[in-house]
Amino acid sequence: MYNPKSDKAEEFIDHNEILNTIKYADENKNNPDIIDEILKKARLKKGLSHKEALLLLDCELEDKNKEIFSLAEQIKKDFYGNRIVLFAPLYLSNYCVNGCVYCPYHFKNKHILRKKLTQDEIKKEVIALQDMGHKRLAIEAGEDPVNNPIEYILDSIKTIYSIKHKNGAIRRVNVNIAATTIENYKKLKEAGIGTYILFQETYHKENYENLHPKGPKHNYAYHTEAMDRAMEAGIDDVGLGVLYGLSLYRYELVGILMHAEHLEAKFGVGPHTISVPRIKRADDINPDVFDNGIDDETFLKIIAVLRIAVPYTGMIISTRESKEVRKRALHLGITQISGGSKTSVGGYVEEEKENTAQFDVSDLRSLDEVTRWLLEMGYIPSFCTACYRLGRVGSGFMKVCKKEEIHNFCAPNAIMTLKEYLNDYASKETKEIGEKVIKEEIEQITSQNLKEKVIENIKEINSGKRDLRF
Ligand code: SAM
Repeated sequence: MYNPKSDKAEEFIDHNEILNTIKYADENKNNPDIIDEILKKARLKKGLSHKEALLLLDCELEDKNKEIFSLAEQIKKDFYGNRIVLFAPLYLSNYCVNGCVYCPYHFKNKHILRKKLTQDEIKKEVIALQDMGHKRLAIEAGEDPVNNPIEYILDSIKTIYSIKHKNGAIRRVNVNIAATTIENYKKLKEAGIGTYILFQETYHKENYENLHPKGPKHNYAYHTEAMDRAMEAGIDDVGLGVLYGLSLYRYELVGILMHAEHLEAKFGVGPHTISVPRIKRADDINPDVFDNGIDDETFLKIIAVLRIAVPYTGMIISTRESKEVRKRALHLGITQISGGSKTSVGGYVEEEKENTAQFDVSDLRSLDEVTRWLLEMGYIPSFCTACYRLGRVGSGFMKVCKKEEIHNFCAPNAIMTLKEYLNDYASKETKEIGEKVIKEEIEQITSQNLKEKVIENIKEINSGKRDLRF
């Protein structure tokens, strides 16, 4: 029985409920009256259930699909304005004891070079990232209790936060490491992490077990219940994701929304972010052998439907996707993108001689190029990390976001962090367009008081002050 409040993975991700939802969608996906009812509810901008969302995803009526896409764009604008947050992944170690069949870090892969950064090497990577202008990282590591124990991860976080190079600083470290114990999540919380990110890969239990034949990750319940342990340990913000291509995308959409419903029901707050990775070619991985790959149009519709179903959840797209796909995805709901990413261990300092990468990157542009591209499209690239540092996290953050009050903080913070970036790291061309956008954005601030404060802070930034925030 589907029970969103249950502690058991197989009850809050209920297989039969998913199958029934798929059947219901098969029967009703092109019923205009039902779709209209769902769209009416969606316009209230309070989200949709997994069942309603699947109907929108499956709907084939052209006029209704146009409405779905334009509503997604509208919701994106209402909650997030034109701000896009930038981040970069930092790969610490590719040692791994799991057998994930889609990932080149699987333990049987003998020709990938295994590498684990020392604290000194992490320092160098972080300086390289700071010199690009990054303020926000997502650390990544394989699962290996001997090579990458929690102490190694904690030491690495400490190192990352401690480095202050020129005007650089990493102000938020998000963590993407394998499911672990409550005790370890408590340690991560104490270390001051931002979001704990863990991709479910697939919500389909049987497929999950086949795709993870060996290692601790084989345990579906332990993996699926990880966010519960993280939140019980006090981690406020968690990030979900499925790896598209592994199972039927319709099953996954229902699964991830059930997961969000579960976190909301149990903890009063849904996921902070949802990522939308698709399987990519990698060292010994050929994505074509996976039967459930999705085309760009389906992928973009998933993003639009997620935007409508969970309006308060940030959505992340990585450099797994091309510039063209990222551009369309940004309109439909994405709020965070990576830029200038390297997916290899040590890749920011050294040109790769031997392969340590997790997957091939599609968007190879530098952070400066990505920033300029965003500016040219009318977005404000944001390097803001203020919410988490001022304690606007978890349900507190969601309350502000739900009231659409987030603009009062986010717009000024985005402007100020962009200004820091322009002064410290941008190329001449990026600076030129960036300064113009900042001027226009300041004009848009409706509160006179706030506008004056922002103008004052911009002057302070020009005279060398950093890290101003609301
Ligand atoms: N080892 C940790 C875990 O098991 O969750 C950390 C995650 S791993 C460094 C980051 C994510 O990359 C995985 O969760 C997976 O979804 C994704 N990934 C793995 N192989 C991939 C591939 N070939 N193409 C695209 N994404 C991949």
